[in-house]
Amino acid sequence: MDAFEYTSLPGRVVFGFGTIARVPDEVSALGCRRAFVLSAPHHENTAAMCLLEALGDCAVGLSSEATMHTPVEVTDRVLQQLTAAGADCLVGLGGGSTTGLCKALALRTDLPQIIVPTTYAGSEATPILGQTEQGRKSTMRSPKVLPEVVVYDVELTLGLPSYLSVVSGMNAIAHAVEALYAEDANPITSAVAEQGITALGHALPLIVADTQDRAARADALFGAWACGNCLGTVGMSLHHKLCHTLGGSFNLPHAETHTVILPHVAAFNSAAAREALGRVARALGVDCAAQGLFDLGASLGAPISLEALGMTESDLDKATDITVSNPYWNPRRIEREAIRALLGDAYHGRRPSC
Ligand code: NAD
Repeated sequence: MDAFEYTSLPGRVVFGFGTIARVPDEVSALGCRRAFVLSAPHHENTAAMCLLEALGDCAVGLSSEATMHTPVEVTDRVLQQLTAAGADCLVGLGGGSTTGLCKALALRTDLPQIIVPTTYAGSEATPILGQTEQGRKSTMRSPKVLPEVVVYDVELTLGLPSYLSVVSGMNAIAHAVEALYAEDANPITSAVAEQGITALGHALPLIVADTQDRAARADALFGAWACGNCLGTVGMSLHHKLCHTLGGSFNLPHAETHTVILPHVAAFNSAAAREALGRVARALGVDCAAQGLFDLGASLGAPISLEALGMTESDLDKATDITVSNPYWNPRRIEREAIRALLGDAYHGRRPSC
């Protein structure tokens, strides 16, 4: 065993079917009595109503305003509501957008958070917050934003449509892939990463075949926690930098961008991170990680090209410039020409070579 450093994240996880009913007890266990519920429009709203009912007098307010990329103007508005309501804790039910709003409010108020995730984004397991101000997205890390409790209710994910399940699951896998070759990779995070990839790689095809497959849904949600935990405990590299650039500067959809880019970054890093990507391949049950990741998304109906996500080819040079201007650490040196080639492959949706 080589030398390593590892810092575990504090936090409690409750996992199972029907666990939404446990939220009131979790609020009490935190010593709180006035919960403010956060959600997003559309689907989660129905579940948020159930949560409000379960919380009864303990619920002092609800906002369903959560928006992708956590715009600060939404946060400021909801902050006023929860201050007026005298809330002593936050309960966020939804995908990464809802968790983002909850974290942004926790940063400003230091209130404890209980998150009930309904996608596989994994934000609930990290001390990371991305926020958008005047169209600019910035990311920060703070123990203040790490949720105190995560209640995983597999039941709530049964309604996540097949397409969203796949792209959200690929978003999660991306955290684990980059964790395996992180600069601060360590044996604990790597073991969790492999487990996360194995769980999602196994579950996603079963979910596409039958969205109501309860065992597969449970495996996928566990995989989401495992992959999110990786994102929280080690640093990310080129893949996350590229996705941050494409999402932040070209407004491409978050989970889909991760899905398209990941196989190409795996191919780019294959020689420099041979052992780590060998573990990815093993977890997926394939010979080549890059092709295995590409085939997994493609076979399950996910988009495979940046073109399909609405990117214009003339923007690839600008995206390259932003990526190379302030790069994250990466196992292989970041050079302009190679990044431009990677983006070209991703734009056209070419299957990576091994
Ligand atoms: P999201 O929360 O916007 O959800 C995507 C869509 O799925 C929405 O339309 C939502 O209404 C719908 N949805 C959610 N749950 C559903 C369900 N169970 N059934 C049906 N529809 C459902 O997006 P996301 O992909 O979950 O998260 C993306 C956001 O999270 C981005 O802003 C990203 O930056 C952030 N994120 C942050 C971290 C972090 O550690 N800070 C990690 C991952 C993602």
